[in-house]
Amino acid sequence: MTPQRPQGPKGPQGRQGSQGRQGSQGRPEAARTSCERCGTCCRKGGPALHEEDAHLFHEGTITPRELVTLRAGELAVDNVLAANVPADGAQAEPAPLAREIVKIRGRDGRWTCHFYDAMRGCLLHGRHPAECRALACWDPSGLAAMYTQGRLTRRDLVHAGALVELMDEHDERCAVGRMAEQAAEALAVHVWREPGAPLPPGEAVDGLLEALRYDAALRSVIVERTGCTRAELDFLFGRPVAQVLRAFGLRTTRDADGAPVLTPDRDAR
Ligand code: SF4
Repeated sequence: MTPQRPQGPKGPQGRQGSQGRQGSQGRPEAARTSCERCGTCCRKGGPALHEEDAHLFHEGTITPRELVTLRAGELAVDNVLAANVPADGAQAEPAPLAREIVKIRGRDGRWTCHFYDAMRGCLLHGRHPAECRALACWDPSGLAAMYTQGRLTRRDLVHAGALVELMDEHDERCAVGRMAEQAAEALAVHVWREPGAPLPPGEAVDGLLEALRYDAALRSVIVERTGCTRAELDFLFGRPVAQVLRAFGLRTTRDADGAPVLTPDRDAR
């Protein structure tokens, strides 16, 4: 799993299709009957938040800087729902999210839950979100039953009018579904060009570059004017467009003038 193609909501990655998979203490997950606090599930990714978790946000137990929004249309690996897991037990393929989710972010460039500490376990000390409470690696039925129900979105948590207007404008100008289509179109053109060459100008590429410029400018202005951190912006506006585009096979670099340039990203495909 890579940050460009995030694991979806707390997903016991490979859970249903992982017969024979072993946790960090060497015991096959299927052979367990209780939590051994091995931390395997926390290293696979933090949970998405649900309605019953809203109080954790409002009371400050979980803050915006510890969250990340995956917007509708972003590619995510969902290994919880049985329909997504290949019959041979392999990891599910990334698929577009039907609607946005807000989840606990990873750390150190991985999806290991931000609150997981190898020595102390969960730093939320018993106040962990609903998906974590429902998770039993030896029996995924409890998690599967609840995990698409009542998921929170940003607009369930943020009620400041000006911020919501900015989110709406950002969602419109950097719509994930449109960027996915533009990326596919841009890459279709690229197959006729030499590997590693910047994508040539065109309607699709120009649209993507405009989204990149707008997204970067918006984030910079908000950081400068409000003192908001970049991490908080990943909750308010989702991951930066440059990261979203990597999942669609495009790498963003800068030219000598600092303008964004798009090239095919072979590693992300
Ligand atoms: S919130 Fe706590 S229990 Fe849940 S994944 Fe993170 S570290 Fe693990």
